[in-house]
Formats: sequence, C-alpha cells, structure tokens
Amino acid sequence: MTNTQKPKIGIFSLTGCGGDQLMILNLEPILLDLLSRFEIKDFQEASSYKEEEAELDIALVEGSVSTKTDLEKLKKIRERSKMIIAIGDCAIGGCVQAMRNGQMSMEERMRKVYGVDVDYYDVLEPKGISSYVNVELEIPGCPIEKSQVLHAITSLLHGDMPEEIDYPVCVECKLNGYPCLLVEKGLPCLGPIITAGCDARCPGLGLDCIGCRGPIRDESNVAAELEVLLEKGYDEEYILNRLRFFGGNFEDIQKLTKRISEKSKGRRNSHEEDS
Ligand code: SF4
Ligand code: SF4
Repeated sequence: MTNTQKPKIGIFSLTGCGGDQLMILNLEPILLDLLSRFEIKDFQEASSYKEEEAELDIALVEGSVSTKTDLEKLKKIRERSKMIIAIGDCAIGGCVQAMRNGQMSMEERMRKVYGVDVDYYDVLEPKGISSYVNVELEIPGCPIEKSQVLHAITSLLHGDMPEEIDYPVCVECKLNGYPCLLVEKGLPCLGPIITAGCDARCPGLGLDCIGCRGPIRDESNVAAELEVLLEKGYDEEYILNRLRFFGGNFEDIQKLTKRISEKSKGRRNSHEEDS
C-alpha cells in the first residue's frame, strides 16, 4: 500500500445480534469522515455493496462461529485479510451463545430443543473466532464501546497497534470514586474479573456488573470471585450461571462448571442410594 492509497476495510457479521456494527454506525457525527479514510469493501449493516473477492488490509468481524456457514465465511475472510479485529464478545469468546458450552454436548442440546432431526441444523458449538483463525486484535463489549473502536481505527490509521485493556472494571470504578457495591451492599458484582473499558457504567448507576465485557483473558481470578460471593451468601449455582452468562467459553469458568456439575451429580447419586 502506498501513502496515497487508502486502507481497504471490510466489516463482517457471523452469529450475533449485529449490535457491534450498529455501534460503528452510531458514530454518526464523525462516521462519514472516518469512513472516507478507507476503501469500504463490505459493510453488511450499512450497504448492500460488496466486493467479495477484494483483498483487505483490515477485517472487523463481529459474531461467534456457531454454524458451519460461519466457519467457511470466517476462513475466507482470513485468507483475504492482512489483519483481523474481533469486535464484541461474541467474536471473542462466544458470549451468550456459549453460555451452556461444557454442560452438555451440542447434539444433546439440539435434541432437547428440536427433537431427533439434529443433522438438519447447520450448528457448531459457539466459539470465538480465535478458536479457528489468527486474530490480531480484540475489542471487547456487548456491544463494543464506540470510543474504543474509534481509538483502535485511528491508531491503526497512524500505523500504531492499539493497546488491549488488561485491568478490571474495579479500577475504573475506583478512579470514578464510586462506592463498592460488593463490599458495601453485598451485591454480586463481577467487576473484579471483568475487562474494563466501559468506565464502570453499571456501578456508576448503582447496579452491579454482570460481566458484559467478558473476563480478562489470563488474568481473572475466578476462584477468588466465587469464594467472595459464596461468603456473601450467594448460592454456587446462581454464581456459576452469572459467570457463564458472558464467560461460558472462558477456561477457568468451564473448569468450575465441571467441578460443580460433578459435585451435584455425586449428591444426586447419594440421594438415590439413600432412598
Ligand atoms: S462495585 Fe463492583 S466494579 Fe466497583 S469496585 Fe466494587 S466490585 Fe469492583
Ligand atoms: S455489565 Fe459490567 S462490564 Fe458491562 S457495562 Fe456494566 S459495568 Fe461495564
């Protein structure tokens, strides 16, 4: 690419609600100026125009890989793109679609919901895109924050790789001087293990964090969060469901799910033997 050429960009959706593309469209006051810095080759939510074979400098991908069709589409995007940015929790870790991963197989789930003809459906266990292809950058959120996507895009335009956030919501909560809802009110706040970047929006409104930006990769102490919430009197299954809502594919949460399900299976077996 010469200095006079504009970077070629594509914005794609896999399985998800389309909310992350919508957040980009919501950059209204600066959207036209921003987009004019790129050659847009695909932007599903903005235009039906697309160049399906064009090579891309940057591909922004939202949504999880939840179908074989998603996977084929993702592989083609990877082949034609120099850089892939996963935008939103679905693309990073599978998000709410992955809530039940690890609890039962996809076949069992399909059978429970749709009956016997499971082969009819084009499904895969929902996963983030880095489970299948290399991803150069992840921008978390459900949906993403407009400011973060803008920061990432403008940094890349200047030739800099944006930094990823590796500290928890609690840091932003403290910087804002908000009272701690976990300590002071005993609310089941997930702030200590969740990726910051929302400026502690919920605690700022007096609401506990439900973890919509996903756990901090390789940094979250899930076991400690569980201990704290158990001490506060919350039930193990309630805590687990809360953790799984946005973190079903997160390794430590899956380990916890396995441990707790084995424990409850053991309890059920001993009840059956007693009766
Ligand atoms: S309210 Fe939640 S996010 Fe804020 S400091 Fe307490 S635990 Fe952390
Ligand atoms: S749920 Fe947590 S991570 Fe999501 S916006 Fe609220 S405070 Fe931020």
